[in-house]
Amino acid sequence: MRKVLDKLIELQDIDGQLLKLEEARGDLPQKVNELASDIDDISNKLDQKKHDKKENESRKMAVDGETSLLKEKLKKYQNQLYQVKTNKEYDAMTLEIDNCEKKIEELEYEFLELEEDIIKLGNDISETEEKLNEQKQLLQKNEKHLSEMMEQTKEKEKLLKEQREIMIKDISRPLLTTYDRIRLNRGGRALAYLSNGSCSDCSTRIPPQRSMEIRMMNTIYYCEVCGRILVWKPEDKDKPPQ
Ligand SMILES: [Zn+2]
Repeated sequence: MRKVLDKLIELQDIDGQLLKLEEARGDLPQKVNELASDIDDISNKLDQKKHDKKENESRKMAVDGETSLLKEKLKKYQNQLYQVKTNKEYDAMTLEIDNCEKKIEELEYEFLELEEDIIKLGNDISETEEKLNEQKQLLQKNEKHLSEMMEQTKEKEKLLKEQREIMIKDISRPLLTTYDRIRLNRGGRALAYLSNGSCSDCSTRIPPQRSMEIRMMNTIYYCEVCGRILVWKPEDKDKPPQ
C-alpha cells in the first residue's frame, strides 16, 4: 500500500504541474469562444439592419414614384375642374381631388418617416460595424495570445500527460477513479498531508491513533472534513507540533 500511496503522491505532483499549465492559459480559451459568439451575434444584427435599410430605401423610392404620379393626376383633375358642365360633375371632381390630396399627404408623411428611419439605420449600421471591427481585433489579439501560450506549453503538457499515462498503469482502477473524483471536486488536489497532527488542507485535527496509522501508510484514510486522501511525507516528521 505504501508503494501505491507513493505513486499517488507522484501523480498529484504531475497533476499539479498540469493544472499550473492550464492556469497559465487562464480564461483565454473561454474568452476566445465568447468573443467568437459575440461576433456572430453582432454580424447577424448588422445583416438584419442592412436588410431593413434596403427595404426602407426601396419603399421610399416606390412612395416617391407614387406621389409624383398622384401629383400629375391632381393637376389634371384641377384643370378638368374648370371644364365641368354640371354640379354633379363638379362634386365628383372635387371628391377626386380631395382623395388625391389626402393620399398625397399620407404618402409624403410616410416618405419623411422612411427617410428618418433610413438615417437612423445608417447610423446604427456604422456604430455596429465599428463595434464588430473592435471585437474582431480583440479576438485576433486573444487568439494570437492563446496560440502562443499553447505553443509554449504544448510540449511540456504532452510530456506530463505521457508520464501520467505510464504512472496510472500501476494504480488500481477503483483507486484511480476515487483519486480523480476527489481531484476534480477539490480544486485539483486529491491528496492532503498529515502535517503536525492535522490535515494540511483543511487543518482538521487527526486523532493520534489515526495519525500513527497514516504514518505507516498501510491503509487509505480519508480526511473526514475535506474528503482528501491523507498521506504522510517523512520530511514532516521533524516539524515541531503546533
Ligand atoms: Zn482535510
